[in-house]
Amino acid sequence: MSQTSDQAASTWYETTSVPRPARPRLNFDLDVDVCVIGAGLAGLTVAREVAERGWSVAVLEAGRVADAASGRNTGFVLPGFGADIDDIVERVGLDHAKQLWALSERGLDYVRRTIVDTDMPGTDPMPGWLHISKTDNDRAVRADIERLRWIGADVEYWSKDRVREVLPNPRYFGAAHYRSAFHIHPLNYALGLAALAEKAGVRIFEDTPALEIDPAGVRKRIVTPDGRLRAPHVVLAGNVQLGGLMPRLAATLLPVSTFVVVTEPLGPQLDEVIRYRGAVSDTNRADNHYRIVDGNRLQWSGRMRTWDAEPRRIGRSLVADIRRNFPSLGKVDIAHVWRGTLGRTVHRMPQIGEIERGVWVAGGFGGHGLNTTAMAGELIGRGIVDADQTWRLFAPYELVWAGGRPGRAFAQAVYWGSRPVEAVAGMVARQRERARTRKQARLASRRAPVAAP
Ligand SMILES: Cc1cc2nc3c(=O)[nH]c(=O)nc-3n(C[C@H](O)[C@H](O)[C@H](O)COP(=O)(O)OP(=O)(O)OC[C@H]3O[C@@H](n4cnc5c(N)ncnc54)[C@H](O)[C@@H]3O)c2cc1C
Repeated sequence: MSQTSDQAASTWYETTSVPRPARPRLNFDLDVDVCVIGAGLAGLTVAREVAERGWSVAVLEAGRVADAASGRNTGFVLPGFGADIDDIVERVGLDHAKQLWALSERGLDYVRRTIVDTDMPGTDPMPGWLHISKTDNDRAVRADIERLRWIGADVEYWSKDRVREVLPNPRYFGAAHYRSAFHIHPLNYALGLAALAEKAGVRIFEDTPALEIDPAGVRKRIVTPDGRLRAPHVVLAGNVQLGGLMPRLAATLLPVSTFVVVTEPLGPQLDEVIRYRGAVSDTNRADNHYRIVDGNRLQWSGRMRTWDAEPRRIGRSLVADIRRNFPSLGKVDIAHVWRGTLGRTVHRMPQIGEIERGVWVAGGFGGHGLNTTAMAGELIGRGIVDADQTWRLFAPYELVWAGGRPGRAFAQAVYWGSRPVEAVAGMVARQRERARTRKQARLASRRAPVAAP
């Protein structure tokens, strides 16, 4: 699953991106206070935060800014983490979990504030996230919502009727509605962030892979093909592409690809079928995350592979998912299909902190990276410049080997296994609903007054 294969298919984001200045290669030697490796959302946020505090920063990017996951994702800016809140509480205790949740919300606020305060072009923020259940176990949905509220989340319950009013799909039951969440054009956000970082003094070098690091000594040495860099602080924000540079760190991430399609414009029936303009998810897995983009197109993401797969073939499966959920949309043509690769940790929490003196890691954001990269950028920026120790709240989440090839096979098997289980649970719920409706109709007909002869 190479970076090149991810980048082979053009994304809808690229065709609608703000102007993208070409940035130079590093072809000289340079001394800075902080060297950031990787110009995804994590690296760009750290760089901006450090530079705004007055320190000199260089970012080394092997490809182009935000060409990897940060510019290819689904664009949902959500609170929380990839890990379930119950697992977090179990691991770190309630008070600590509340602090982590508050940080995740701070990450979400960071993205919102950055867009609003700078009037960032092309980001198109749209509020709300609806996380829908496909079973009729309302008690479980409500209990989840109560637990999340207790931890500090701004989430409300939506009944089946309310959900179906805006998304007329008989597969849908109750939902959790996250009012503070929103969705954006992620590539334009990343490009906007790069421009803000540069305005603060950051120097970004594209087409400049970091090939070697010597982390010993006060000044770390980083070798690139045409220039060397020295810096007392290095931030590793290379996600799954970090590979050969830091093999032991890379081995703590499981590379997981998911796929995204954007349809051709769908005409007036789209407004009738999808009346909710926020982000929607109807599984807990990688599948069925969707939203309307560009006024009249549907963006739909799903399917998961821990090894290579042809995006066009998976794109056809995604169209089948769309038609299964919304048959009245009629013919759906794909305009763009692409793949993105995220890095998942075993505990599903990000890796944030100083792993040895002057060497920082910002990685493992999984499929929940828009808020958490922002949060990590702020925490590490403050950690480096102000010696702020808040990042230590993530210390319980250590660097754990992700299992190599067996780990990939296991993750794929779990995903494939969960699909039929969820499908059967949904089918049973719909059968129960039909039986209830028939019973109610029978009772109503018995109660109906008999017409006088
Ligand atoms: C299809 C998809 C959908 C997603 N949807 C969502 C969503 O809706 N909401 C959400 O919150 N999250 C989502 N995510 C997750 C989110 O996109 C990621 O967690 C986040 O973008 C990770 O950012 P990053 O900066 O850590 O990594 P990346 O964006 O991968 O950036 C890392 C950069 O480092 C560079 N690099 C690596 N090694 C080197 C080196 N040696 N030298 C120089 N440069 C190097 C790479 O070229 C790359 O540009 C999704 C991810 C995918 C793939």
